[in-house]
Amino acid sequence: MSFSDKHQCILCDVVSCKFHDQSGHCQLDSIKVKPRKNCHDGSCDESECGSYINK
Ligand code: SF4
Repeated sequence: MSFSDKHQCILCDVVSCKFHDQSGHCQLDSIKVKPRKNCHDGSCDESECGSYINK
């Protein structure tokens, strides 16, 4: 389900990403969250931002 009318605010501390701004926000309107490789059973921190692009 899409909530395009909610104007989501994405806070992010990943300073090496090209979409990160100095106020600690993501400049994208939406992001994709992906599972990390070889981590699918909850025994580790599985999620990561799939929209990340290095500066
Ligand atoms: S794309 Fe992902 S990693 Fe990059 S600033 Fe946005 S939330 Fe952070």
